[in-house]
Amino acid sequence: MSSSESSTEAIAASAVAPQRELVASRVLLGMIASGASLPDVLGALCRTIEAQAPGALCAVLLILDERIHVAAAPSLPEAYSQAIDRLPIGPQGGSCGFAAYSGRQVIVEDIATHPAWITCAPITLEHGLRACWSTPILDTSGRAIATFAVYYRDCRRPSQRELDLVNGATDLVSIVIERDRSAAALRDSEASYRALVETAPLGIFVLTRDRFVYSNAALARMLGAASVNELIGRSIVGHVQRDSRPSLAERLAHTSKRGTTTRAEVKLLRMNGAEFEAELIATPMSFAGAHSIQCMVSDISERKRTEKRINYLAHYDDRTGLPNRNLFIDRLSQALGHAQRSGKAVALLYLDLDRFKTLNDTLGHAAGDVLLRAAGARLTECVRAHDTVARLGGDEFALILADLAQAEHAEMVIAKIFQAFERPFTIERRQLFVSTSLGIAAYPRDGATPELLLKHADIAMYQAKAAGKNTYRFYLPAMGMGLSESLALETDLPGILDRGELELHYQPQVESSTGQIIAVEALLRWQHPQRGELCPDAFIPLLEETGLIRSVSAWAVRRACSEARDWMDGEGRPLRLAINLSASQFKDPRLAELIEQIVVDTGFDAKRLEFEITEHTLMEDTAVTLDTLRALSRLGASISVDDFGTGYSSLSYLKRFSVQRLKIDRSFVAEINEKHDTTAIVEAIISLARSLYIEVVAEGVETTDQRDFLVSRGCALLQGYLFHAALPAAKMEALAASSPAAHVASMGVVTPLRPRSVQS
Ligand code: C2E
Ligand code: CA
Ligand code: CA
Repeated sequence: MSSSESSTEAIAASAVAPQRELVASRVLLGMIASGASLPDVLGALCRTIEAQAPGALCAVLLILDERIHVAAAPSLPEAYSQAIDRLPIGPQGGSCGFAAYSGRQVIVEDIATHPAWITCAPITLEHGLRACWSTPILDTSGRAIATFAVYYRDCRRPSQRELDLVNGATDLVSIVIERDRSAAALRDSEASYRALVETAPLGIFVLTRDRFVYSNAALARMLGAASVNELIGRSIVGHVQRDSRPSLAERLAHTSKRGTTTRAEVKLLRMNGAEFEAELIATPMSFAGAHSIQCMVSDISERKRTEKRINYLAHYDDRTGLPNRNLFIDRLSQALGHAQRSGKAVALLYLDLDRFKTLNDTLGHAAGDVLLRAAGARLTECVRAHDTVARLGGDEFALILADLAQAEHAEMVIAKIFQAFERPFTIERRQLFVSTSLGIAAYPRDGATPELLLKHADIAMYQAKAAGKNTYRFYLPAMGMGLSESLALETDLPGILDRGELELHYQPQVESSTGQIIAVEALLRWQHPQRGELCPDAFIPLLEETGLIRSVSAWAVRRACSEARDWMDGEGRPLRLAINLSASQFKDPRLAELIEQIVVDTGFDAKRLEFEITEHTLMEDTAVTLDTLRALSRLGASISVDDFGTGYSSLSYLKRFSVQRLKIDRSFVAEINEKHDTTAIVEAIISLARSLYIEVVAEGVETTDQRDFLVSRGCALLQGYLFHAALPAAKMEALAASSPAAHVASMGVVTPLRPRSVQS
């Protein structure tokens, strides 16, 4: 710009100054808003001031690392800008260097004589510049981040108006730089979040009105899209399996309305229509100004497959594909409940194959398996579709015939069964004749619970065998006399506590990484005056039936807490104490209160208490169960799921109930390295539990093979006869206090020992 041009403009400018300043600011704001670069905005700002102050040549200098950086100087000679760029600040750094150094405004009327210009004067004067007023822009800590400079080609001081203009400009520069810095910081943090989201292994996407407006690469891969772009704009509806649509739509609507996060398990569809199970977590957000929902999705097909497989193994017999004992008992309870309401009868048929053991031993296990399958198939042919045929184990089968007008009607089916067994079985091209012995017990006349009916049908079957096999017997009460141990025991139960016949034994749990005992499980024993030591499976069902379980278990918790109170491991750390609670105890709404009282009375540290409850108890999921679990957690006790794998295993409920540990049922452990399927399941349980931060305890470890497998898969704790059986209190105390090396020796650890992590 030539000086004559600038003076004409200046006249126009002064006439309409306030208005022009406003327009100029608006232009500037427009540039800032449109994201113009910092030098462009500052350049425009300089020109705006120059237009209002005739003869002024403006510059904005940024201060970085104590040096001057020319950010904008649209009217200064290019060579001069280059000459002062990167000069250090200081008392002799010219007006700007000194202003930045001192943090004060520096007005130099004549560059030729001012001390701040001693070093820089020659080059400045060479470019015809005589005066320079510089104002620093300070950050919150008082350090200069920039200076705003006004040069003149003649010696002069600023008028009040010019000072006002300079100060106004300085404010503007400060705002512009500030905005630029925060935008840069935002860009940086956005860039790192974006990188995080884009490279996350989880599928992450944003929906606006059901359509994908953002997706990361993981989601595109999960849905089988060629690229993220293929997904953008598509509706999510096409990727949700038809049956999942209504519930998902409802959940998402709920999320938007309530502004909360929801979690859902849904079936999603890939581009090619293939279905997979997914867990979705949705949170409302605003995206590009629109109400949107941000979702994270993970593919849980593998977990679901494992759950299905565990459930299958828990309820079906792998060899014959028939229901197993667990499912059989379930179905029998259902049939009994139904019969109670309808007034009908239920018959339970219990049978085994005569001479099966001999056949199995002579022909081999493979042939034995074929025979079991064939026998199962024939039994299934004899009943109606809704009757149940189950294999209870070995060569034992059981059938439920429900909805009978009277028990004797079972005889028609029994006749069919014996007919079916008259035909030979073809096994390995041989014709084999196999007969069966069968016992029948009926509801309501022979019992009202599955356990009692099974027991009576079993007794009747032995009578059939005793009668020469290949025949059947209905249960008669006379058969039970002398045979039914449980009935006899039942009469001994009252007063069991007063007579001091109950005691607790303790079975250690060892840490797999060190072989050290870190916990014990309390197990009931009944020292029966005539029958000797009895295990809980023989009398706990009776305690439950008679209602004695409450007083016995209160006794057991109190006894365990006082006996284990002072036990320490070999290195002097207190042991954790696990106590079993049965389903019926759990239904007692005052259980937690009782336990709290015991903790207070005995002085046992509640943080070391652990309660083992079975998967079945957890699944009942009543309000009382939940309250009790919460109350126990509040006390500081931990919860462990016992017999894991024998119920309807669902890993999601473990999360819901905040369980700390799960115990793989010993039936699974027994089949490690024996059955490929079970081995894979155990492996999957351990790894899935780990991903949910749940510790795994393997129970019933009997062989070094099982131990090695479990150790190699990272199972945290081991319990079983391989290490220790359940021990009387005194022996347990002595064992716990002995040196840790003793535990290790008894474990025969094969893997190198790692130092034990600190237990809280
Ligand atoms: P559980 O909780 O599954 O306890 C483990 C059972 O496995 C114990 O049987 C234990 O002696 C046995 N065991 C330990 N190591 C091995 C092994 O290596 N191989 C095999 N085959 N078995 C092993 P126990 O003591 O007969 O207890 C049976 C069940 O009685 C327990 O099963 C538990 O459900 C119940 N129970 C025991 N004590 C109590 C109690 O105080 N209260 C309640 N409610 N139930 C109890
Ligand atoms: Ca247990
Ligand atoms: Ca168990």
